Amino acid sequence: MGTYNCEAILLAVRDYDATSRMVTLFSREHGKLSALAYGARRPRNELAGCVQPFAHVELALATGKNIEALKQCATRRSFRELREDLDRMAYATMLAELVAELWPEREPEPAAFDLLLSSFALLVSRNVRVAALAAALQLMSLAGFRPEYEHCVVCGGELTLPARFDASAGGAVCAACSEPHLPPFGVEGRDFLARMLDLDLADPGHFSVTGAVLMDTERLLGEFLTWRLDKPLRSLAFIATLARDKTGGGRGQ
Ligand SMILES: [Zn+2]
Repeated sequence: MGTYNCEAILLAVRDYDATSRMVTLFSREHGKLSALAYGARRPRNELAGCVQPFAHVELALATGKNIEALKQCATRRSFRELREDLDRMAYATMLAELVAELWPEREPEPAAFDLLLSSFALLVSRNVRVAALAAALQLMSLAGFRPEYEHCVVCGGELTLPARFDASAGGAVCAACSEPHLPPFGVEGRDFLARMLDLDLADPGHFSVTGAVLMDTERLLGEFLTWRLDKPLRSLAFIATLARDKTGGGRGQ
């Protein structure tokens, strides 16, 4: 049984039995993996404090017959802020779920790792909705699902804005290709989408958006994710229940 080290973000941590936790992790070196943290539910176990959802860690893993065993864990950044605030937790869970859906086990994806790490930092320091939106769009792009917004995604023709957005087709559609039930896609929405897709998450600079454009773009993203992934993300339903308790106004910073 070999032991190896890796740098990882813990995507999800679940209770496994009375004493152990099951961890889904995304490592820079080996991609997504599952590992059992034996003893991590015992309060005085050395893994207990470190094995937390969203934490950025250094791990020692032992190769097992069916599943890796998590032997050592050292925190690089706990991201405690993401677990202590309901909004931040909801959006961090959404990004973690998205990464787990987009990449199969043991497929190294260092660019996605760096993106997720930057986006967790951004969720802590900036408007969570805007940060999560930019991160989700960029993760989708990295996985090959970039929404088309410059030309009609159906016929490839020129777009006259306002046009409409067809999430099932993968982007904006011209008047000839669209149906009246589809949501409108205007200049502000297009500009915001373009900005979010190209935002440098590690150094985003100033961004701002009206509540209406943010809500419209979130809705487009939600539909886009559902179509591209072939199923709704569980965390999006939870985010929707959080949003219902609030007003949609204000400006995101
Ligand atoms: Zn068209």
